[in-house]
Amino acid sequence: MIIGVPKEIKNNENRVALTPAGVSELRKHGHTVYVQATAGEGSGFPDEEYVAAGATMLPTIEEVYGIAEMIMKVKEPIAVEYDLIRENQLLFTYFHFASSEELTRAMIAKGAVCLAYETVEKSDRSLPLLVPMSEVAGRMAVQEGAKYLEKPLKGRGILLGGVPGVKPARVLVLGGGIVGTQAAKMAAGLGAHVILMDISLARLRYLSDIMPENVDTIMSNEYNIREEIKHADLIIGAVLIPGAKAPHLITRDMLKLMRPGTVLVDVAVDQGGCIETCSPTTHENPTFIIDDVVHYCVANMPGAVPYTSTLALTNATLPYALQLANKGWQQACRDNAELKAGLNVVEGKVVYKGVADAFSLPL
Ligand code: NAD
Repeated sequence: MIIGVPKEIKNNENRVALTPAGVSELRKHGHTVYVQATAGEGSGFPDEEYVAAGATMLPTIEEVYGIAEMIMKVKEPIAVEYDLIRENQLLFTYFHFASSEELTRAMIAKGAVCLAYETVEKSDRSLPLLVPMSEVAGRMAVQEGAKYLEKPLKGRGILLGGVPGVKPARVLVLGGGIVGTQAAKMAAGLGAHVILMDISLARLRYLSDIMPENVDTIMSNEYNIREEIKHADLIIGAVLIPGAKAPHLITRDMLKLMRPGTVLVDVAVDQGGCIETCSPTTHENPTFIIDDVVHYCVANMPGAVPYTSTLALTNATLPYALQLANKGWQQACRDNAELKAGLNVVEGKVVYKGVADAFSLPL
C-alpha cells in the first residue's frame, strides 16, 4: 500500500503520525511511505532519519494527499485540507467527529474512509489509541502542578516531596482511571502524600493493591471531597464518564475551603472539566487565579511534549496501521473488531452511531 504522512498544520500541533521506526516497519512489509518534508521536525525527527528508514520525502502537502492510498495523521483534517482528500482514500487519525458537524459533512461529501483513532475499541471497552495520551497527561499533571506550587508562579510555595524533617505536599487525585493512576504514581514517586479517589470500589481495591505506601484510596463523594480539599496542596481532576460531560465535583463555593496558593489541574477540561471554575486554557497562557487558587486547565496537555507524545501515540497506532496496510481496510476491519469500531464515515455514509446521533444523520 502507498502510505502518506502529511505535516500537521493545525495550530501548535507538533506531533507526527509516524516515526522513522514506523516507516522502517511498514517498508519491511513491502509498503511505500511518503512523508511530507519537515513533518517530524516538531517532534525531533529530522527528514534524514525518515530517508534513512526508507521513506520518500515530498515537498508539499498536495503531493502527499495526491499519491497516498492511506493518509496517517494525528489531528483531524482542517478546512484547507478538505479539498486534498480523494474519494475512497483511507484516513487514519483522530477525528472527534461528534464535536464538529462541519468536519463530518466535509468527510461525507469527500467520500473518504475515515477510521478514527478515538473510537478504536477493545473487547473490554478500553480505547487503546486514547490511552497513551491519557498516560502523558496524567504524568504531566504532576509536573505542571509541582511547578505552579512554586511561590513566583502564585502557588503555596511547597515542595511536593518535602525534605527530611519537613512534611511533603498533599496531592488529591479525583478519578483513578488512566490519567489518575499515572498522576498518583508520579506524585507518590516524588514523595508527596497522595489521596486517590474514585467511585468504583472495585477500582479502589485494585489501586490500593498496586499503589505505593504513600497513596491512600478514598471513596469519591461530596462529603469526602469537601474534607480533603481543605488540606490538599495540589488537586488533579481526572474523572471521565464515557460519552458525557464531566461532573462538577468541585463547585465554585468549595474554593473558599481551600488554602491560598492551592493548585488545581483539571485534566478533564476537554470533557467540560470536573472543577466548576475551570475553563480551557492554552500552553501559551496556561493558568488563571480565582479566590487565590491557581487553575491550570490546558485542553491539549500532550502537545507540550511532542517527542514523548509522538512516540507514545505511534507505539499504539502502528500495529493497527500495519493491519490496514497489509490487508486493506475492508479485510482488516472484517478480521479485527477493534479496528472496525474505528470506522466513522465510509464512502459518503456515517457508520458510527454516536456521530449519526449527534447530527441526526442516517446510519
Ligand atoms: P478513564 O476512563 O480511564 O478514568 C476515569 C475514571 O474516573 C474512572 O476510573 C471512573 O470510575 C472515575 N470516575 C467517574 N466518576 C467519578 C467521580 N464522580 N468521582 C471520582 N471518580 C470518578 O479516563 P482517563 O483516560 O483517565 O481520562 C480522564 C480525563 O482526562 C478524560 O476527560 C480525558 O478526556 C481527559 N484527558 C485530557 C487530556 C488533556 O490534555 N487535558 C489528555 C488526555 C485525557
